[in-house]
Amino acid sequence: MTRYIATVLVLFSLLTAQSVPSPEKYFGFPIGADRHLLDWEQIVTYLQKVANASPRVAFQQLGTTTQGRPMVMLFISDSANIAQLEHLQRLQQSIAEPFQLDSAAAKPLIRNGKLFFLVTLNIHSIEIAASQEAVELAYELATTEDSALTAALKEVVMLLVPSLNPDGQDMVVDWYRKTVGTPAEGTRPPFKYHFYADHDNNRDWFFFNLKESQLIAQVLYHDWYPEVVYDQHQMGSTGARFFLPPYNDPVSPVVAPSLMAHTNALGKYVIARMHDAGFRGLVTNTIFNAYFMGTMSKTPLWQNRIGILSEAASARLASPIYLPHSSLRGMGQELPEYKQQTNFLDPWPGGWWRLRDIIDYEKAATYHMLQYLAENKSVLKRNFYRLNRQAIEKGTTESPYYFIVPQNQWDRSAAITMLQKLRLGNVKIHVATQDFVYNGRQFHAGDFVIPVAQPNRAYIIDLLSRHHYPDLRQFPGGPPRRPYDVTTWTLPLQMGVEVIRVDNPLSIASKPVEPAPLLDIPELTAGWYAFSPRHLNSYRILNYLLHRKVPVHVQGQGPTARFVLRVTARKAAELQDVFSLYGVPLEPVSGATPGAKLQPARIGIYQPYIPWVYDEGWLRLILDEFQFPYHVLRDEDLREKNNRLKTIDVLVFGSQDAKSIVKGYDGLRTQPQPEGEPQLPAKYRKGIGKSGVENIRQFVRNGGTAIFIGEACNFAIDALHLPARNVLKDASRTDFFAPGTLVRVSLDTASPLTNGMPPEANIYINNSLALKLMPYHQEIRETAVYPPYDVRVSGWLVGEQKLPGTVALAEIPYGNGKVILYGFRVHHRGQTYGTFKLLFNAFYRMK
Ligand SMILES: [Zn+2]
Repeated sequence: MTRYIATVLVLFSLLTAQSVPSPEKYFGFPIGADRHLLDWEQIVTYLQKVANASPRVAFQQLGTTTQGRPMVMLFISDSANIAQLEHLQRLQQSIAEPFQLDSAAAKPLIRNGKLFFLVTLNIHSIEIAASQEAVELAYELATTEDSALTAALKEVVMLLVPSLNPDGQDMVVDWYRKTVGTPAEGTRPPFKYHFYADHDNNRDWFFFNLKESQLIAQVLYHDWYPEVVYDQHQMGSTGARFFLPPYNDPVSPVVAPSLMAHTNALGKYVIARMHDAGFRGLVTNTIFNAYFMGTMSKTPLWQNRIGILSEAASARLASPIYLPHSSLRGMGQELPEYKQQTNFLDPWPGGWWRLRDIIDYEKAATYHMLQYLAENKSVLKRNFYRLNRQAIEKGTTESPYYFIVPQNQWDRSAAITMLQKLRLGNVKIHVATQDFVYNGRQFHAGDFVIPVAQPNRAYIIDLLSRHHYPDLRQFPGGPPRRPYDVTTWTLPLQMGVEVIRVDNPLSIASKPVEPAPLLDIPELTAGWYAFSPRHLNSYRILNYLLHRKVPVHVQGQGPTARFVLRVTARKAAELQDVFSLYGVPLEPVSGATPGAKLQPARIGIYQPYIPWVYDEGWLRLILDEFQFPYHVLRDEDLREKNNRLKTIDVLVFGSQDAKSIVKGYDGLRTQPQPEGEPQLPAKYRKGIGKSGVENIRQFVRNGGTAIFIGEACNFAIDALHLPARNVLKDASRTDFFAPGTLVRVSLDTASPLTNGMPPEANIYINNSLALKLMPYHQEIRETAVYPPYDVRVSGWLVGEQKLPGTVALAEIPYGNGKVILYGFRVHHRGQTYGTFKLLFNAFYRMK
């Protein structure tokens, strides 16, 4: 009988194996062939077929993307594991959250559990190879008889996400298909490949502004708790062929050292095996570091998961590129020249480099990783359990013990948003159930508390504490070494939320809660009411009201400003619901003299054809979230004589290099392009041109408001001949360097831009901008000024002494209109809730 069943099973698996068509048969060309790409629908349809045919594969739709495409994941493992995924998930959850699980009880769970291995592909859409690799991986793992791979699948469950950004995958394939055979073949599309974020979609992994990040956070931190995460990327074409960890310095002081050691070991093992298999040009320990928390391959390190990044050299989308040996270059300070050294043992000699090569490198790395994980399953799972358990214990024996988030905040809605973001990373939030005292301060039942005794202790500490980036120099006394990304992301400081760190042992009576803005608003009766712009959610409500033509007035200014409206008996119930939903308190106003009436300004956002102006995209994201309508203006809209500026009141430029605003891509070129090299069509290359500059001048003279953020201030100062000077414009990096830093400013609270702001704020700087204004025939407002001392709040700042007394935010009258210069990142990556109001207040007119 047993024998009979076994025979039937073998027959069954042979049959199913046969019924999975190979990608080549199914699509009619080999995957990775030059100039052939699969689009998202083709990929998803094929993967579904594989899942239907193979007992080793299960398919799940995680949700939908920003633009409505399916976001999907495959489970790939031995058929016996696929058949009992729910059981394995329970084991996984137990060791991931071992609040009550001692090591004796953990042992059988570790033994019987499987290792979960999340492989994420193609987050950066022009790094297109991995999306194509996905179908081959799925097919081969579904059908392989290779004993090493089938043995590995018995111990490992692979979670395969074929693209972290399906919208962009489709956009790039569509662009490639349109341009192949034209002079633009191999160029990247001149549009953002993520609707809001473009390449910055891989900077969102603790803030979760994007739908795609939210869906994967669910997989990582709530559903499957993979112990190992592997995210595949591509880099430039002229360096090494393939990067794997060890990462470059610096390391994060809060990530567990043993976890980094295992990350290093895994990277080195795979490198060795790839050398065995004849892959050349493999590099480790350069450029890419693991200090910045917000990327897909790194954030999991703060949650005790091994995080692997790979970077393959790029072709030109699916078109090959020829690399003469002398065109090959070193990569960063740890590979200064393209020659053999210990982290680059076998330099690739040069030649043709194609889509197929990238897939081969990426696939080999994935298979070797899979085998290593299977062979070391027990060690890795035990370590995952141990680190989770240790983090819980440390939270009760080492500082910090708690973070307290009082209910009574300057902006309660920002505090709630911050807590909700933490929840996405599976941070447990509590409320105090009794009043308590800490450091002589009284706290109340209902105040939020975050116990640090949680598996993700490192994640909690790093997100809620100040950052002190090491002062790394190129050589002693030399210029600062550029960090891989920004050097601070402290949520409370970015978001204007008061959080108290508890460094002394304390026990707080508390219970878990799901934070929501909801507020109990007493029944409204007809009459005048006021609400405060202190709460960011007040702007959602304001926009809701203005959109419905409900008149709203503004009284007072700065910290004491308030919005006033008359509630009619007919609208009372609806408004009560709206205010309670957004958690904004209202108070009755007696004998109102309403003050100036607010009207929505018609907003225009300049969107260049240069996609890596991320600031523009993040601006659209927050305007959509806070329900501000806006128009997008392109180069041609500004260039043309009857330009669209006539239809708007406020024009916004996100942070962008001055030259590229006027001259587009052509302004960025430092030398002529070699004959026949890929080139974008001319309409995308030109920028706004001289006529665009003249049209902006006229727009402001005629009464418009022009807003320039970050680097765009340099453009405005020159192009509009403003009475302002950026004193850091020519500063060397040794003199001044602010690579993503939080600093303090004092605000002129008489400016309507500061409505709802406290008199002091933390702003985010990621540039060299400090303004001085000149004598002028009209009154200029220095709205935000750097204070005389203690400017730096968090992150790295070289040359702090250059800032005191200079201006970060200036309002300059210009003809009948106004120019506003934000010499900082007012809405940095959609995260700086603490300064959004300084921008939002510019989006209303007063009558
Ligand atoms: Zn990338």
